[in-house]
Amino acid sequence: MTKIIDGKAISQAIKDEVKDTVDALKKDGKEIALAVIQVGDDPASAVYVNNKKKACAYVGIRSISYELPEVTTEEELLKLINDLNNDPSCNGILVQLPLPSHIREDVIIKAIHPSKDVDGFHPENVGAMLIGQPGFLSCTPAGIIQLLKRSDISIEGKECVVIGRSNIVGKPMAALLLRENGTVTVCHSRTKNLKEVCRRADILIVAIGKPKMIGPEYIKEGAVVIDVGIHRMENKKLCGDVDYDAVFSRCSAITPVPGGVGPMTIAMLMYNCVLSGKDNPNR
Ligand code: NAD
Repeated sequence: MTKIIDGKAISQAIKDEVKDTVDALKKDGKEIALAVIQVGDDPASAVYVNNKKKACAYVGIRSISYELPEVTTEEELLKLINDLNNDPSCNGILVQLPLPSHIREDVIIKAIHPSKDVDGFHPENVGAMLIGQPGFLSCTPAGIIQLLKRSDISIEGKECVVIGRSNIVGKPMAALLLRENGTVTVCHSRTKNLKEVCRRADILIVAIGKPKMIGPEYIKEGAVVIDVGIHRMENKKLCGDVDYDAVFSRCSAITPVPGGVGPMTIAMLMYNCVLSGKDNPNR
C-alpha cells in the first residue's frame, strides 16, 4: 500500500503550533511582525505574497506590506531593508524573488540582517546550517524534513538521492538530510546514469523544474518519493516533476502535487518568523 504524504494536514498542524506560540507571546506583550516586500507586479509573485500574508493573518503575525514599483532602484530597496534591519518592531524581512533584472539578488539577500532573514537565504544562515549551528533554515527543505519526520519516515542510514542543486532547494536539502544522518547523493543536469543513481534511493527528492520527468524507471521498489516541482499544465491542473500516476504503485510513500511540499514552505516561513521573535538564533 502506498502512503500519500499529506502536506496539507502536516502544514496545518505546524501552523496551529505556531499560532499557539504567537498567542502565548502576545500574552507576554510581544507581537511578531513580518515585512513582505514585492518589487514589480509579476502575477505569480503576487499570488505567493498573498498566500504568505494570509498565513500570517491565520497564525496572528502582523504582515507589513511593501508593494514597490518595477522601477524601484537597488539603492532604494537597500535603503528600505536597512531601515527595517534597524526597526526593532520588525522581526522578519522577506523579499519576494525573483527581483527585476536591474536589482542584484545576491546583494539584496546579503543586505538583510541574518537575524531577520526568515527565508534562510543569507550566507551566514546557509553556513550555520552546513556546520550544524543555530540559524534560519531554508523553508522548502526544512518543510520536507518535517514531512518525513511527521510521517514516521526515518532518514538515518538511508540512501537519500536529491535531484537538483539550486541554492534554495537542492543544496540545502542535501545538507539537511546529511544532518539527519542520511547517506546523501546530489544529482544535477550533468549527472551521468541518472536513472541508475536514482534507483539506489530509499528516499528520492526531486527538484528539477521539468514536468513529470521522473517515471517508474527511476524508482526503486518501496522508495519514498518527495516531489518539489510545481507546474501548471495546459488543462490548468497542477503537476510535479514526478509522473505521479505512473510511479505511485512502486513507492512506499509519495507527496502529491498539489498538497505535498507546496504548503510546507509557507508553514516553515511562519515557524521561522516565530523563531525570529522568540529565541532568535542569530542574536
Ligand atoms: P532550478 O531551476 O534553480 O534548479 C533545477 C535543478 O535541476 C538544477 O540544479 C539542475 O542542475 C537540475 N536539472 C535540470 N535538468 C535536469 C536533468 N535533466 N537531470 C537532472 N537534473 C536536472 O529550480 P529550483 O528553484 O530548485 O526548483 C525546482 C522545482 O521546484 C521547480 O519546479 C520549482 O517551481 C519548484 N519549487 C517548489 C517550491 C515549493 O514550495 N513547492 C519551492 C521552490 C521550488
